[in-house]
Amino acid sequence: MDFDLTPEQEEIRKLARDFADKEIAPGARERDRTETFPADILKKMAPLGLLGGPIPEEYGGHGLDYISHALVTEEIGRADSSVRTTLSVQISLVELTILKWGTEAQKKQYLPPLCRGQVIGCFGLTEPEVGSDATKLRTSAKREGTHWILRGRKTWISNGSVSGLALVFAQTDPSKGHKGIAAFLLDRDKQKYESQGLHGKLGLRSSDSSELILDDIRVPDANRLGEVGDGFKIAMSALDSGRYSVAAGAVGVAQACIDASVAYATQRQTFGKPLAGHQLVAEMIADMVVETDAARLLVWRAGDLKNKGRPNTRETSIAKLYATEAAQRAADNAIQIHGGYGFSDEFPVERYWRDARVNRLYEGTTQIQKLIISRFATGIDAIS
Ligand SMILES: Cc1cc2nc3c(=O)[nH]c(=O)nc-3n(C[C@H](O)[C@H](O)[C@H](O)COP(=O)(O)OP(=O)(O)OC[C@H]3O[C@@H](n4cnc5c(N)ncnc54)[C@H](O)[C@@H]3O)c2cc1C
Repeated sequence: MDFDLTPEQEEIRKLARDFADKEIAPGARERDRTETFPADILKKMAPLGLLGGPIPEEYGGHGLDYISHALVTEEIGRADSSVRTTLSVQISLVELTILKWGTEAQKKQYLPPLCRGQVIGCFGLTEPEVGSDATKLRTSAKREGTHWILRGRKTWISNGSVSGLALVFAQTDPSKGHKGIAAFLLDRDKQKYESQGLHGKLGLRSSDSSELILDDIRVPDANRLGEVGDGFKIAMSALDSGRYSVAAGAVGVAQACIDASVAYATQRQTFGKPLAGHQLVAEMIADMVVETDAARLLVWRAGDLKNKGRPNTRETSIAKLYATEAAQRAADNAIQIHGGYGFSDEFPVERYWRDARVNRLYEGTTQIQKLIISRFATGIDAIS
């Protein structure tokens, strides 16, 4: 086992870190206050190859290995979870899913513009009545000759309003249960789906979250991703890749909490010495450091399996569960260390706490990760 990063991995991490420090972190508070989607930042990320990291170069990507992909995602997550969410959806839920399940023609058509940032992608699985139990989708797809007619609503769709491409899941035959689900690529120029932004969120306020309105959208059969009936498998494989990205982003949040807390605790004095000189404060910092290291190593273990093309659902779920819970604890400790100032957006730690909260909900809640992990341990499915 080798924990050293290669020179190429160090280099891509530095590139992402420099970009995040210079271009993402400085405006994060203002974007959070004004709920401004970071479109200008995405434009700057594309030429650096940051929107197509792990996609092979022949399809417009950068051909990064999965550890490098995690390093980039961690650095972006360290600066702003809203930007990181856009990136996770674009790369991990949309691009990697098309790469895995698309025909050659679909890969050539969709991947280059996504990697160049000319098109923003979104992933539409969740519905108003269906979240964790994705086998029960109500959005319907009815075959009409060479086309499908999609009807339904998707909700909580990140990037939904700004998307030019939507990967959506719909039920073709309710009598078949999850084996009736199919996946479709909706090209907004042609399929003209509507969206409605969701506001008033606790965190992730500059990430776009929207409803997708699918009112009899006509989709050519050529836009079907995978076979009819593969939709559920496709969604689960997408989540394997999305969870990895969320886990890496959560490590970034936890690291940001350490950085902010160390800076504050070594400078602020109480009772004649820096906060870090008080053992109860030092303990909080030590807890953050240990848990962040552990989370990062779990992410790298899952990434190593991905690099080797080996099954990694269990390891990815463990990484996602641990990293997202650790990030929340780190953010809570970071606020505590900042005292009253931690409660104000004068310091970034309250945003880290608000933004960290959703990591424990989306791409499979903490409970769903636990059920996946326990299923691997016991062989008994306690989910359904
Ligand atoms: C900001 C944000 C962005 C999102 N982005 C996207 C996106 O881009 N695309 C997308 O498709 N979705 C997205 N989602 C939706 C997200 O994935 C769902 O909210 C999540 O999967 C949970 O589904 P739910 O909200 O319907 O909760 P429910 O499924 O109703 O669950 C409610 C609670 O019950 C628990 N629960 C449910 N079933 C079980 C069980 N069997 N055992 C134990 N506990 C259980 C859950 O863990 C949870 O605590 C996003 C959500 C948010 C908040």
